[in-house]
Amino acid sequence: MLPSLPPMICKTLLLLVLLVCLDGVNPGESTSVNDDDERIHLMFILTNVDSNWHIARRFTIYAESLLATTDAAITIHAIVDDGGKRHVRKYFPESVAPRVQVVFYDRDDVTDQILQFVTDMRSHFSSSNTSYYHDAIFFVGPVVYRVLPDTVKRVIITDTDLKFLADIRGLWSRFEQFTDEQVIGLAHDAQPVYYHIFHKHRQANPGTRVGAPPPDGLPGFNSGVMLQDLEKMRDADAYRNVLDPKLVAQLADKYQFKGHLGDQDLYSLLVVEHEHLFHTLPCNWNRQLCRWWERGYQDVFEKFFNCDGPVKIYHGNCGTAIPEGDGTETGGDAGLEKAEL
Ligand code: MN
Repeated sequence: MLPSLPPMICKTLLLLVLLVCLDGVNPGESTSVNDDDERIHLMFILTNVDSNWHIARRFTIYAESLLATTDAAITIHAIVDDGGKRHVRKYFPESVAPRVQVVFYDRDDVTDQILQFVTDMRSHFSSSNTSYYHDAIFFVGPVVYRVLPDTVKRVIITDTDLKFLADIRGLWSRFEQFTDEQVIGLAHDAQPVYYHIFHKHRQANPGTRVGAPPPDGLPGFNSGVMLQDLEKMRDADAYRNVLDPKLVAQLADKYQFKGHLGDQDLYSLLVVEHEHLFHTLPCNWNRQLCRWWERGYQDVFEKFFNCDGPVKIYHGNCGTAIPEGDGTETGGDAGLEKAEL
């Protein structure tokens, strides 16, 4: 709508608009990334869709709810195998570009890139060789800053067992609340899992905040929804230094920490001594539904699980059904993948 502008200005504006639009057209195979600061960058892993239909079904809920709740311009960074790629394309077809553009990263290529880091870390955060999280790619979180191009300065990293009830722009705007030092934003884990994992340390240190419930404790984090300031990670030493395998090993020893949940174990251990690096997201941006740890911890469970306020993202972790708006439930397959938190 440019009714009163002279033709020359109109032409110039139209050309500019056209250029911006063309710049945004980045069909899936492209590896170039639009570095427009206004775009939201979103990363997830989608693999094993062909061998596990639950993963495919949950991704349907994820993708449809994301698109239904926002009209923001989004660049999706999808780490995929062949089946995952087909599936992502199905829900984010090229017809939704340039508003939603997809950049694919091959699962095996990324694994090669991060394998040494994962090998260094995995002994502390993986319970056995058969663990779901033994798949190295699921430990990519701490080193995403190496995998994504430098043009990507901030990113939201999520699981795909989520349902969006609110506009992802609200989550993206949480970056504005980061302090100068904070590089990662996560919501607390909604179960007493780190209360359990830190139990030896807690026994020896009565009253410690380590593993204790919110609001005063350090209950640990859930990595289903994560904000990362990649630019700060790349530019400052503070974050990269704490990933030194020797220091992580010392920290795990000191707190007698033996996890089994992958990268969220690392954040939940690091926050104990490096709290300044972490921004705590409100629980309603990662409303976890799994109640697995209620058994054995009924006395404290609600202190961890309670979450007031309207849900903005449901997280159907450990295969828990995500409630429908009308009260019926769907998408549940409890017990199938307890390891996937
Ligand atoms: Mn999950």
